Amino acid sequence: MLSPLRPLLSASALSASASRLFASSFATTCNWSPNSSGHGWAQLINPTSILRIYPALNDNYYYIIKNTDASPTNCSPHTDYILSDCPEGCLTGVKDALKDSLKDSKEVSKTSPPTLHIFLTHHHADHTAGLSSVQTWASSNSIPVTVHSHASIPPSTLLPSSLKILSIITHGHTPTHKSFSLPSLKTIITGDALFSMGCGRVFTGDMDAAYEGLQNLKREVEDDALVLCSHEYTESNGDFCLSLGEGFWGDDWRAVVERVEEVKVLREKGLPSVGTTFGEEKVWNPFLRVDMKEFERIRKLKDSF
Ligand SMILES: [Zn+2]
Repeated sequence: MLSPLRPLLSASALSASASRLFASSFATTCNWSPNSSGHGWAQLINPTSILRIYPALNDNYYYIIKNTDASPTNCSPHTDYILSDCPEGCLTGVKDALKDSLKDSKEVSKTSPPTLHIFLTHHHADHTAGLSSVQTWASSNSIPVTVHSHASIPPSTLLPSSLKILSIITHGHTPTHKSFSLPSLKTIITGDALFSMGCGRVFTGDMDAAYEGLQNLKREVEDDALVLCSHEYTESNGDFCLSLGEGFWGDDWRAVVERVEEVKVLREKGLPSVGTTFGEEKVWNPFLRVDMKEFERIRKLKDSF
């Protein structure tokens, strides 16, 4: 098992302008390149893992986590790469993230090649269209690939590097949407089920399932978990939050206003607004604050906002 993670850098060493990314167990170096159309990334590091956040398409994000078995008894530690999700163009990030490991495994013949685990939250094309190009490239570089599909993944998956991944049912956006929790890294990948300050459209029409999915997250996810969602929708979500009015938010109105201001500053600089904590989302995400009846009301309001 992995030991509890400690940041490598002090908070003051982190980039203030992208502080939203860094409220997690990961410390960070930020190499975000706002105009790079898929080539930029932000990198978060802890003693056993590196997380990179990449932009794709118009407003998608995908995530690559490198995890190495840190067990002191393991003399040939295995490295897993986790890719979640797999939009068109994500091969750029995969090549970028794996290049050092590939070089190492060629130079040291006894080192086993890294394994690439692709976790798919749901079937929509902006989450899956890059799959075949990644599989083809991995195959030509002798990298083992395992695809963990939302439709068939078991509740718990243990990777060779000892990283445990829990799948959480977050249906509603699609009939089989899953979120992925990495408890030892205090991270939750929410796909299109939960965004910062918002949640995914309920394309199935099953409002009960969408609401239950968010309740599942509230039951399973710790407040200090880093929330990694699949879209940069926060600015428009924030406008919707303000439109609900001060009465909806009560004592948390000020926090919502400040978050909206923070997001506008980040976006003006081309920086991502994702990387909040689940505890923060419980404050400023309206869909995590309501009962079923109110969820349905504000979800319909948002659909026509
Ligand atoms: Zn979707």
